[in-house]
Amino acid sequence: MDTHSPLGPDALKALDGRHHLHPFTDTKALAAEGGARLIVRGEGVWLTDADGQRILDGMAGLWCVNVGYGRAELAEAAHRQLLDLSFYHGFFKTTTEPVARLAGKLAELAPPGLSRAFFANSGSEANDTIVRMVRHYWNLKGRPGKKAFISRTHGYHGTTMASTSLGGIGVMHGQGDLPLPGFHHVMPPYAFDLARGLDPEAFGRLAARAVEEKILELGPENVAAFIGEPIQGAGGVIIPPDSYWPEINRICREHDILLIADEVICGFGRLGHWFGSQRYGIEPDFMTLAKGITSGYLPLSAVMVGDRVAETLIEEGGEFYHGFTYSGHPVPCAVALANIDLIERETLVERVRTDIGPYLRRRFEEALEGHPLVGEIRSEGLIGAIEIVKDRRTRERWPGDGKVGLMARDHCFRNNVIMRGIRDSLVFAPPLTLSHAEADEMVARARLSLDQTARDLG
Ligand code: PLP
Repeated sequence: MDTHSPLGPDALKALDGRHHLHPFTDTKALAAEGGARLIVRGEGVWLTDADGQRILDGMAGLWCVNVGYGRAELAEAAHRQLLDLSFYHGFFKTTTEPVARLAGKLAELAPPGLSRAFFANSGSEANDTIVRMVRHYWNLKGRPGKKAFISRTHGYHGTTMASTSLGGIGVMHGQGDLPLPGFHHVMPPYAFDLARGLDPEAFGRLAARAVEEKILELGPENVAAFIGEPIQGAGGVIIPPDSYWPEINRICREHDILLIADEVICGFGRLGHWFGSQRYGIEPDFMTLAKGITSGYLPLSAVMVGDRVAETLIEEGGEFYHGFTYSGHPVPCAVALANIDLIERETLVERVRTDIGPYLRRRFEEALEGHPLVGEIRSEGLIGAIEIVKDRRTRERWPGDGKVGLMARDHCFRNNVIMRGIRDSLVFAPPLTLSHAEADEMVARARLSLDQTARDLG
């Protein structure tokens, strides 16, 4: 086939239907629905499909397009770098300007004590890298028994074998005989489902103690690390009470367990801070960064390594036999620098914390006050969830294991606003550039979609 000949939308959809295996998709069901919607343009918070419909992207792609679509500064940074030096690596005593500058910039933005960056292409690869680094570290420390990882139910850390094992999503474990041995899961700080009348701060401490109990059950001498997202994103935007993370800091310190903050969603302003660790006072030994690092314009991830671990790996570890061809690829690194520059110039982090985050939350609360399907609206910065229930008073769920969340999501899609259905919640994480008028529009379309869902349910 001539790859340059023009193809209309129908021809493209037919090709896609025949040849493209979509990620996280039931291919048979997609075909039965007539195939995928073809997205052709993005500008700001808006997408356009092949039929010319404008769609408000309430999910920033996959929680990643922090500065919005179509920013010329990012395209120009990539273009310039491609012409100057399209590729070079850091394997054998070489480096490039974008990777050196980006490593320095990340060290400046990160909480104190995280001053080294290792680069990869995706959040999954970054978390796999951390698993290897952690095991190597404890071996170097003469404590080879410390191998177990603890994480939470509904946690999401990626899709490789190790990162799926770190995650706590049962349907993913069901495919591929996971988790691998040595990966353990405890309850998440999911107050709406689990607090059962406890006040939030007491519940936060209780959920943290579940980590300590697991450490004691396995024996601290066998536990290598605990990993958690500051706010659990893909598991349903589970926002911990403020008491949770300080208690996790204490537990990890007391039992000599490394603490990993997976900042793949929370990083780069989403919570109104550069990193979720700063919002919650987390004292991590590692941070996983991806997505917002380039606002999704090109694939890039980074592992920020804390000084005490880095020192051991560097001083005692010799060569670390690990790296990807594209670790520190100069083009995404140049885009990341331009992206961070934009976030700083447009003061997007402060804007999320003091302006658009609280505004969007207030508008949702006003628009959905007393709605029969809405059990809770929760958000932090520009990430949030609307819990859908059958009975607002008792929090009884609808039967069907998350089907109602998907019904609401599909109504949103038809009403040209993208939100995500995760179990029975409707989740949002729009670009940080969302205007007040766009927030109003998003809320109005979500309200309409929930009304239509309520009507369907009779
Ligand atoms: N960690 C978190 C918290 C994520 O949300 C994701 C992706 O959604 C990942 C890791 C995996 O990142 P990637 O899809 O780039 O491999």
